[in-house]
Amino acid sequence: MTHADSGPLLLTPGPLTTDRRTREAMLRDWGSRDSGFIEMTARVRRLLVEIAGGGESHTAVLVQGSGTFAVEAMIGTFVPRAGKLLAVINGAYGRRIVQMCTIMGRACEVYQSPETAVPDPAEIDRRLGADPAIGHVIVVHCETTSGIVNPVPAIAETVRRHGRRLLVDAMSAFGALPLDARAIGYDALAASANKCLEGVPGFGFVIARQAALAATAGNAHSLSLDLHDQWQAMEQNGQWRFTPPTHVLAAFDVALGLHAAEGGVRGRGARYAENCKILTAGMRARGFETLLPDALQAPIIVTFKMPGDPQFVFETFYGLLRDKGYVIYPGKVAETPSFRIGCIGALSPSDMKGALEAIRATLAEMGVTDGAPARARESAA
Ligand SMILES: *Cc1c(COP(=O)(O)O)cnc(C)c1O
Repeated sequence: MTHADSGPLLLTPGPLTTDRRTREAMLRDWGSRDSGFIEMTARVRRLLVEIAGGGESHTAVLVQGSGTFAVEAMIGTFVPRAGKLLAVINGAYGRRIVQMCTIMGRACEVYQSPETAVPDPAEIDRRLGADPAIGHVIVVHCETTSGIVNPVPAIAETVRRHGRRLLVDAMSAFGALPLDARAIGYDALAASANKCLEGVPGFGFVIARQAALAATAGNAHSLSLDLHDQWQAMEQNGQWRFTPPTHVLAAFDVALGLHAAEGGVRGRGARYAENCKILTAGMRARGFETLLPDALQAPIIVTFKMPGDPQFVFETFYGLLRDKGYVIYPGKVAETPSFRIGCIGALSPSDMKGALEAIRATLAEMGVTDGAPARARESAA
């Protein structure tokens, strides 16, 4: 990793730490009609399809904005106005999908499981069997709220058996956790520049089965979030509709080169897994407990239960760590007080060791001797 002068390391769910080479790609301006920029757009789209395992049958559509814009564009474009979506949710990003459907006026049935449990494909099977009006199912691959990895292949199999269509929010997993487009058979998958592909924030993208995308004309409720229209423009003249995030794309182009040099999805996933292992072992050695059992944990972001030690005040812990150059993240799960530490972005195992050393020093400054959550401490006493 090259991140000299980059400011603090971001151990968060995004924005993430980026490589200096990626940021340096933003030091020149591009015109949107410049042939070099048009080529760059085409190259990035092609590489994204390759990373997804797509091939000729698939395409990538880029869309300005953060990841949420891409998810909203995917739902609004793929689910017809009179269609119905089954939202399989177990966290805040799933709840955000339901909120989008309400605002866009798409009928949405919700199958919600606890934030610390994966959905049961048998329940999806039952609901699809009971309601032929459900045309699409959406699931979040890694629910960044807790860090849980959902069983997308098993869900995809159920959806396929019922002849329905699958949409995936793979925002925090794409590029690091394998999910083969053709094997899974989704209609569309949304992700963004600034998660596991380690670009800077500024656009999202949707990997789509071309045959499915071709059938979505006129579905969208929104001009700017119409992926069919954006796709048509990108195919016809190679350009984005509306001002493209030129610098962000140039940075992403370099970031994709770094992803390939690291060994693609496998190499990136291996580094994150190593980061996660070091982080989890180091925190457990200080008494901290993870929210999730290891079997459900994605190597993306880890949720730790809030320590019971009365000396532990999260805001103080956060501030002292930030002063040492490490930014962590508050918890987001509803039931358990917690905080999160990310494993993704341009962070190496030695960065994770540096973070653990900063945590050790910070706990000592605060007079916290044990990271165990309240209940575990009581039963230990
Ligand atoms: C980060 C993320 C998003 C998008 O968030 P933005 O803040 O809009 O970039 C959506 N879904 C999941 C699972 C995410 O982790």
